[in-house]
Amino acid sequence: MNKNYELAIIGAGAAGCTAAIYAGRSGVKTVVFDKGSGGGLMFTAPKIENYPGFKEITGMELATRFIEHARRYADIHMGEEVKNIKKTSDAFLIETDKDIYEIKAVILSTGSNPRKLGVDGEEKLAGKGVSYCATCDGFFFRGKKVAVVGGGNTALLDAIYLKQIGCKEVYLIHRRDALRGEKALQIEAEEKGIKILLSRKVKKIEGRENVESIVMENITDGKEETLDIDGVFIAVGEEPENKLAKILNLDMDEEGYVKVDRFQRTSVRGVYAAGDITGGIRQVITSAAEGAIAALTSLESLGKKYPY
Ligand code: NAP
Repeated sequence: MNKNYELAIIGAGAAGCTAAIYAGRSGVKTVVFDKGSGGGLMFTAPKIENYPGFKEITGMELATRFIEHARRYADIHMGEEVKNIKKTSDAFLIETDKDIYEIKAVILSTGSNPRKLGVDGEEKLAGKGVSYCATCDGFFFRGKKVAVVGGGNTALLDAIYLKQIGCKEVYLIHRRDALRGEKALQIEAEEKGIKILLSRKVKKIEGRENVESIVMENITDGKEETLDIDGVFIAVGEEPENKLAKILNLDMDEEGYVKVDRFQRTSVRGVYAAGDITGGIRQVITSAAEGAIAALTSLESLGKKYPY
């Protein structure tokens, strides 16, 4: 049993890294677990233009800076997955795939995962032209025809990125007659020559070995349309990564996001949550802010004074 730490932060995205910085600087022995290599969804953002201090930066670069900064103040265990958490009378037993830790307080910053579209062909062709990360996979589609499905900021940014790296044609397919994403991004997408297809519902993705086409319903006239393409980037929102929240029996809303008070306390004493797992507005800056608040509030569970 590892008893070296007072606070465990689960998830090294924007919220988790910021929490680690604030906790470490408050004198808390902190460990951060991440089942992958950290950065969360921020890592996959082709570019970020609204994080103050950085007029334009790639998600990868900003995520790397967050992680490096957090390492100054906390031990970060990348590639270590938390499998189970048990609450005892005065602590939490955190079981990872490598060790068991006895910890006084926990910050859940497990984020969210890309939502699936849920159409025929999507699962079969995943990794064979169907992708959920333009930054990760876009490179393979330079000179090719691709479609991005979704109408939010992620879809717009992905489409702009794919065009920028040299995809021959980029379509943005959205189910409603208006995009949800920021106006500035909509204008940029139009200027970059992205072909925006509104009121189209994707029905299936077709292809023998790799993606060859998608079939859509044009909602305005009910007609079926087929678009020949080489790749489909799905950007239809996110779902909370709430497995551990369920194990801890935390109060959640109807969509599965963890409920917190304004100090990031969950319904279980000693457990705090920050970032996308709490739902609401999901921006790097709001996740970072929640991480800072969660870390400072967690001092109350560690017998330390907190500065507010
Ligand atoms: P989002 O804003 O929730 O948008 C998801 C889009 O997918 C919506 O347009 C939605 O359509 C569509 N959609 C959902 N389910 C669908 C389905 N089954 N079939 C077809 N379309 C479907 O998600 P997001 O773009 O990933 O963004 C997530 C959060 O991160 C948001 O809060 C966003 O503002 C934030 N974000 C911010 C930035 C930035 O500030 N630069 C960048 C990326 C993300 P409807 O419009 O019809 O609902």
